[in-house]
Amino acid sequence: MSKRAYNFNAGPAALPLEVLERAQAEFVDYRGTGMSIMEMSHRGAVYEETHNEAASRLLKLLGNPEGYKVLFLQGGASTQFSMIPMNFLTEGKTAGYVMTGSWAGKAIKEAKLIGEVFEAASSKESKFMNLPDLSNLKLPDNAAYLHVTSNETIEGTQFKSFPDTGSVPLIADMSSDILSRPFDLTQFGMVYAGAQKNLGPSGVTVVIAREELLQDSPKHLPTMLRYDTHAGNNSLYNTPPSFSIYMVNQVLKWIEEQGSLEGIEKKNQEKAALLYNAIDNSGGFYRGCADTGSRSLMNVTFRLASEELEKQFVKESEKEGFVGLKGHRSVGGLRASIYNAVPYDSIKALVDFMAEFQKSNG
Ligand code: PMP
Repeated sequence: MSKRAYNFNAGPAALPLEVLERAQAEFVDYRGTGMSIMEMSHRGAVYEETHNEAASRLLKLLGNPEGYKVLFLQGGASTQFSMIPMNFLTEGKTAGYVMTGSWAGKAIKEAKLIGEVFEAASSKESKFMNLPDLSNLKLPDNAAYLHVTSNETIEGTQFKSFPDTGSVPLIADMSSDILSRPFDLTQFGMVYAGAQKNLGPSGVTVVIAREELLQDSPKHLPTMLRYDTHAGNNSLYNTPPSFSIYMVNQVLKWIEEQGSLEGIEKKNQEKAALLYNAIDNSGGFYRGCADTGSRSLMNVTFRLASEELEKQFVKESEKEGFVGLKGHRSVGGLRASIYNAVPYDSIKALVDFMAEFQKSNG
């Protein structure tokens, strides 16, 4: 087998090797049908079984709480930025958003195109290097929902807990940390994520929501932008991204094999600790961007003394087989995305490389 890269891409990102190999093994003949899953009708029993398996595995990993439904949609998490206000932010209501950085900002921008929005909390003052305290939020009576971004992929911050919003539905963009740790789904009205970081390949967006939120979308909405269309048709109103959903099912099976979310969380904590310790013990050569208490276990952002040195770091890392360590173009610096599927050994290799680089340039 060819050598696998040390893949720290932010998304699409590393997938578990076992999953890729299993997909490869059944690529041309899925379950004895004589065809790939990509080649079969989405209305057939074989596809539908896989589709339903993926949805039920996902709910099972989250403890099978009563009254929740999974949707498989297209258009990325970015389309959810619009669908959420289109479906919930109706006349006379206002929607609360927690402004924590680049992705929260994009969600707010879209909501403002649809209706009235208020900033419930913000960490703009810290340039989004920490997260606001959400423990004493006051939400108006006409709040349609409160939207949070559980993990800011670009800045490298991650909420450790979520507020109790009472009867106001809490909605979370979990694109970059879904299934990286256990969480209480019943605290949320809805969570959503583009699949391409922790769930599978790009092409499918997962929505998990309380069933009552998925009924009775406003009458004027186009069919494809209504949650009730997709909920009422088991996400099979139109042709679903069948191969992506099949891959999500494989990734979910792999998560089960890792000891489910508790097992995954433990591994993620070990991986992140290894990398953050290397940064913190470098005597200031490497500097973590996010405040310690707000650090993400998924996207580790850090800097060197100059942009020139950062460029050199990226260049030399690429020569050694590391991929994706350049920070997002909007903030610069360095970023290692260490999602579920990034093995501990990749991070060990990175930490060793960082020590060598410091020796030569410190
Ligand atoms: N939200 C977050 C937190 C993200 O990281 C991303 C993608 N990087 C998005 C939303 C947008 O997702 P998509 O590209 O699937 O539209």
